[in-house]
Amino acid sequence: MRLFGDYHTHTIYSDGKSTIEENVRSAVNKGLKQIAITDHSFSHMANGISRDGYKEQTETIKELREKYNIDILHGVETNLTSLDGDIDVFSDERKDFDILVLGYHYSYRPLSFKNFFNFWLPCFLGVNTKKRIALNTQAYINAIKKNEIDIVAHLNYRVKVDPVAIAMVAKENNTYIELNTRHAEELSDEQLQAMVKTGVKFIVNTDSHFYENIAKPNRVFAIIEKLKIPTEQIVNMHDLPRFKNYNLDKKY
Ligand SMILES: [Zn+2]
Ligand SMILES: [Zn+2]
Repeated sequence: MRLFGDYHTHTIYSDGKSTIEENVRSAVNKGLKQIAITDHSFSHMANGISRDGYKEQTETIKELREKYNIDILHGVETNLTSLDGDIDVFSDERKDFDILVLGYHYSYRPLSFKNFFNFWLPCFLGVNTKKRIALNTQAYINAIKKNEIDIVAHLNYRVKVDPVAIAMVAKENNTYIELNTRHAEELSDEQLQAMVKTGVKFIVNTDSHFYENIAKPNRVFAIIEKLKIPTEQIVNMHDLPRFKNYNLDKKY
């Protein structure tokens, strides 16, 4: 099993340990055709990238595109920040991202007292009543419908959801569901099998925080093999994926 691209990687601009160039070089050495740089986004407490940092990355990536023979996509891992499906990038910034990965982390900065109590705190406390799971699921669905999300990352990590309901909406909106090797066990076998049946497209990512881990999604590969998930349904195992604001002819 191999990947054409790895679309969720971190650098020293957030909580990663490697530079952008180390990630890119690692991707080249492993024979990838594409690599995405997706650090934690702007509302991440302590280790999110700043808007100035993002601009700096853009300049660095411009230079690396000349130096290395690989497509480098530049985006962020945006935070789901409310039950209404808000995220921590503005809609008029969307054009600045080749790729938008959506993830929930409780290290996002709560927007208000109300937001703290109705979303941040229940997630932090791991509340997983039926009602709470329905609310969390709707938050993701709202986010997918409201924002041009390319990839929904690590479902069930920190926030419990109905992944099958999210997969159905993702399919309608041409959004990929991530099989994340760092959080490979968050989705149960039953949930994964039911998601496969929806026909949604998956994307395998490493969520690498260290360059050596790029393109090595071993835990996910083992699950794919065990459950016999059809690789035709996994976009980066048989071709290059399509992202909403990126295509191969994009000129920089
Ligand atoms: Zn994440
Ligand atoms: Zn990540």
